[in-house]
Amino acid sequence: MQNNPSIVVFLGKSGSGKGTQVELLRQKTGLDYLGSGELLRERKKINDFTGNKISQTIDDGGIVATPVIFHLWMKNFEEFKQKPDFKGVILDGSPRKIKEAYLLEEALKWYEWDKNVKVLLVDISDEEVIIRINKRRICSQCKEILIFEEGMEKCPKCGGELLKRPDDEIDGVKKRLAWFQEEVVPVIDHYKEKEELIVINGEQKIEKVFEDILKALNINDSN
Ligand SMILES: [Zn+2]
Repeated sequence: MQNNPSIVVFLGKSGSGKGTQVELLRQKTGLDYLGSGELLRERKKINDFTGNKISQTIDDGGIVATPVIFHLWMKNFEEFKQKPDFKGVILDGSPRKIKEAYLLEEALKWYEWDKNVKVLLVDISDEEVIIRINKRRICSQCKEILIFEEGMEKCPKCGGELLKRPDDEIDGVKKRLAWFQEEVVPVIDHYKEKEELIVINGEQKIEKVFEDILKALNINDSN
């Protein structure tokens, strides 16, 4: 019997540091993880219409249709439901649109997981996103993504050349910020109205952001 598993929904702009915080929380809590990005990367390996179209859509910087993502989510929810020791799950990458927020709510209700839902927004300004992404580099060899610092010429891990990702050029960044404003802000407002939104100041040191997240989730940080 599953005892009110903890459902933690993460929202945040690209560049907010959300991914880092999700990773820290996974390690700390041992909660399961469900990320749209990861699900789609797996799904696109299947060589069928949807697999190929996901590849193409991601390459074009587009958005994969909601029913495709939700199909994958529901499949995973069903598997979690079978786990007797399921403690809960971190949801990352969706809802990215208001209709996905509604679908997620219905899905959580269906699985009887709607009693312990927390929605965290890792909040940073557009200006801060632009500053951070300007410093973001990818290693041409090991593909590690790092933050450029003064004097850094090669990848500290493998010595590879550091490049700016095409996606991180200013036009791409502005496009993603505009998309966030148009699609994700209504999701944020929706959770705010339901009084389920917890805003975390993402413009702090990684450790401090994580501390605030643990506090918001009532997780003891003593160990
Ligand atoms: Zn490298």
